[in-house]
Amino acid sequence: MSVTASVPAKVNVQLAVGGARPDGFHDLANVFLAVGLHDEVTATAADRLRLTCEGPDAHRVPLDRSNLAARAAELLAARHGLAPDVHLHIVKDIPVAGGMAGGSADAAGALLACDALWGTATPQDELLAMCAELGSDVPFSLVGGAALGRGRGELLTPLEVSGTFHWVFAAADGGLSTPAVYREFDRLNPSGVPEPEPSPALLAALRDGDAAALAASLANDLQPAALSLRPSLAATLEAGTAAGALTGIVSGSGPTCAFLTPDAGTAEKVATALRESGTCRTARTTTSPVPGATLVG
Ligand code: ATP
Repeated sequence: MSVTASVPAKVNVQLAVGGARPDGFHDLANVFLAVGLHDEVTATAADRLRLTCEGPDAHRVPLDRSNLAARAAELLAARHGLAPDVHLHIVKDIPVAGGMAGGSADAAGALLACDALWGTATPQDELLAMCAELGSDVPFSLVGGAALGRGRGELLTPLEVSGTFHWVFAAADGGLSTPAVYREFDRLNPSGVPEPEPSPALLAALRDGDAAALAASLANDLQPAALSLRPSLAATLEAGTAAGALTGIVSGSGPTCAFLTPDAGTAEKVATALRESGTCRTARTTTSPVPGATLVG
């Protein structure tokens, strides 16, 4: 028997970063939107924990127990006194180390698929607590939609969104390490930063489904750090806005760049121009918000 979960990527429409805490994490005001690029995680009963992965980026995904999906299966099994004897197969469509929470998506998918495979019927609040243990972005991968994340991003409040936003995502060659981007953020802000607060204008734009207003309030405090580590992203951002995007922003810790567009037709045009610009590896169109981790078979 097999169970498959489909899990979306995310974009941070606002990522306000506070100073480093004693535990090394940063307090955030993190406004997540789930976007329609998905990984699929299939859990099949096996005689031991085993991991496989397919997709264009599969060679960059670790297949040992450092994989977040394997850690999720181990955590769920331990919580229920079971052995984590499962084969997890990941169909990877989310860029690896791209700032779109691909590993977090796989962790949420593995939890959901293993919970169904093992018949452990874990209550949602316990699943969310396990997600937070696995990583700051994992709870959002489970719930999807739109949410404000406080703390290190794991304390979620769902947000209201009207309509559909049209995006283009430009994936870069190679990834950026999230801890390295936070270290660069600390280096660039030696005298401290203000308390992170969600932007009222941004929350209103989401509520109203107003793409132009959302574009005007998109903000990522990690962008200067990502650009400092990968200066070539400036050309990607420039190419997308020159081609008609309302605006472009680095997605999370990067290096994927996200472009908000007024409609699906413009998104296609921007994606074509980005592919032809030579400033990114590939460009894809998609929409948001979409639901979180879902069992699909
Ligand atoms: P975030 O946006 O949450 O900061 P990210 O999208 O930038 O994360 P991931 O794709 O989650 O980055 O991967 C970051 C690193 O985690 C990878 O370079 C890889 O070594 C490791 N990793 C562990 N599990 C996975 C997984 N299931 N898929 C991809 N990478 C994984």
